[in-house]
Amino acid sequence: MTAHPRVRGDVAVLVPAAGMGVRLGPGAPKALRLLRGEPLLVHAVRRVAAAPSVGCIVVAAPSDAVDDVTALLGPLVASPVTTAPIVASETCGAAEPKLEASSESPLLPGSPLLLVVAGGASRQTSVAAALAAVPAEFGIVLVHDAARALTPPELVETVADAVRGGHGAVIPVLPVVDTIKEVDNSGIVVGTVDRSVLRAVQTPQGFRRDVLTSAHAAAVDEHTDDAGMAEKIGVPVHTVPGSEAAMKITRPFDLAIAELLF
Ligand code: C5P
Repeated sequence: MTAHPRVRGDVAVLVPAAGMGVRLGPGAPKALRLLRGEPLLVHAVRRVAAAPSVGCIVVAAPSDAVDDVTALLGPLVASPVTTAPIVASETCGAAEPKLEASSESPLLPGSPLLLVVAGGASRQTSVAAALAAVPAEFGIVLVHDAARALTPPELVETVADAVRGGHGAVIPVLPVVDTIKEVDNSGIVVGTVDRSVLRAVQTPQGFRRDVLTSAHAAAVDEHTDDAGMAEKIGVPVHTVPGSEAAMKITRPFDLAIAELLF
């Protein structure tokens, strides 16, 4: 049982960061690639930690880099970093003071609790490993890709507020600016999609904890986001305006753009 440091918010944020990032080219796992001299993961966690509602951050790291990631992120929080096993609910134990999801965020001073777990072979298993490590008292859980390294803390608060306000599942979205076409296997266009009804989806995605737990428990296929799993179990997914700064850094071009945005 690990003693808890100060807890200051009612929101736990899961940060899947175990992907290899092959689309970014050869090199370290994507979350550990450098942007302006610091790993993407450091940028992402620093911004999440700056959101006052966040009381706990659980990072799913590459399984061979849990210790390195723990050491890397330690300086970002004033509280001790705890390394948790994949199924870690008993390791985290009960935090003091007790927090409950409510209509008002119980904001306390201090920095969030930081846990690092080993991620899995897919994003979905990485999120599930992180979810298993969230202390019981956090009733709101956000999932945020490390690859969205420049996401502003304000977007974290917007999503958390919407969950706190009663929505079981919340996603930040942006309008789609390109014309989108459906093509067949030979590359021939079979149709043009009405883009006015389309949205590009970002993270953090926010959930009432029981919704995210049920969605993961029910998932049989691989999903590219957690809201997709909530949709599958019939939970309405609420949208809030996203942020251009929450762009996903996937390809070398994205990294170049992020360097300019910084
Ligand atoms: O591969 P993709 O771009 O969808 O990855 C989105 C996020 O999920 C990234 O932050 C990546 O590190 C994470 N991920 C993970 N475990 C995996 C694969 C991806 O945590 N096995």
